[in-house]
Amino acid sequence: MQAFDYVAPSSVQEAVAVLAKHGPAARVLAGGTDIIIQAREGRRDVAVMVDVKGIAEVTQLTHSGDGSLRIGAATSCAKIYNDAGVQQRFPALVDSASLIGGIQIQSRASLGGNLCNSGPAGDSIPTMIALGAICEINGPGGARTIPVEQFCTAPGRNVLQNGELLVSLLFPAPAAKSGAAFERFIPRNEMDIAVANAASSVTLSADGGTFQSARIAIGAVAPTPLYVEAAGAALAGQPVNEATIEKACEAAQAAATPITDMRGSIEQRNHLVGVLVRRTINKAVERARG
Ligand SMILES: Cc1cc2nc3c(=O)[nH]c(=O)nc-3n(C[C@H](O)[C@H](O)[C@H](O)COP(=O)(O)OP(=O)(O)OC[C@H]3O[C@@H](n4cnc5c(N)ncnc54)[C@H](O)[C@@H]3O)c2cc1C
Repeated sequence: MQAFDYVAPSSVQEAVAVLAKHGPAARVLAGGTDIIIQAREGRRDVAVMVDVKGIAEVTQLTHSGDGSLRIGAATSCAKIYNDAGVQQRFPALVDSASLIGGIQIQSRASLGGNLCNSGPAGDSIPTMIALGAICEINGPGGARTIPVEQFCTAPGRNVLQNGELLVSLLFPAPAAKSGAAFERFIPRNEMDIAVANAASSVTLSADGGTFQSARIAIGAVAPTPLYVEAAGAALAGQPVNEATIEKACEAAQAAATPITDMRGSIEQRNHLVGVLVRRTINKAVERARG
């Protein structure tokens, strides 16, 4: 392991000041399940590790009176999926958080770390996009927000500027008659990187027979996780049936630009996009109908 200084700020302002002072040589430490491995393998040079887990805003999980949910960027997956309100109102987050690694990883790993690592296959990212989550960022220039779908810019890269910290993720209140779901495909049962993943969120008419709106996101099939607006548009205003859902699957497949690598081929990934989008829409509909 390379030698680095360890700093544990107790406020967002303090963390931002340390990050700004050291520039790219400083890295945020949340759960450490990506960054510690990357530092040990020499894939990241880290002079200062900035542990943000002592900052209240960054480890919170707060349900607001208006039905929205704010999750601190460094809140562990286990805290998220063990929360009764999340289980009841945001089950798609449970789908993702309970699939990231095993129990040991889940008690450290965070949604913020998954997003800031900005891997194309990050298993929480399509879910956050489908749920319309907003990144709450703080930095030397003050606070700003950005939708999750605009956060990742390339494999391992994102919009964070020097000194900026992802503080929290804000999930809007789920609409009446809405539901969401996440699924991934891996070649074995656990502890692997997704060959493809997908999340869908749907809002249905009061009788549950028509799609009012939908948000669909796919991962591991492009340089960044993708929000496929056209797939949601294919559902909006249409009856809930196989033919409508097939149109959304085709739109998602058209947006995917997968590569062939050791985990899967272009053809397999294109096929998986159709399978996973169909399954997540069906599960989201089931959840929306209650
Ligand atoms: C055995 C194992 C299995 C895994 N399985 C999966 C899996 O199934 N699916 C999956 O998607 N991932 C998996 N991972 C990868 C990893 O666990 C996840 O990406 C996890 O969510 C990272 O969260 P973390 O809190 O540990 O991030 P960290 O390692 O602490 O940070 C990750 C990166 O984000 C930066 N960062 C973290 N928080 C912030 C912040 N608030 N503001 C700015 N920058 C920040 C860090 O500097 C670092 O560059 C696995 C890892 C291991 C070791």
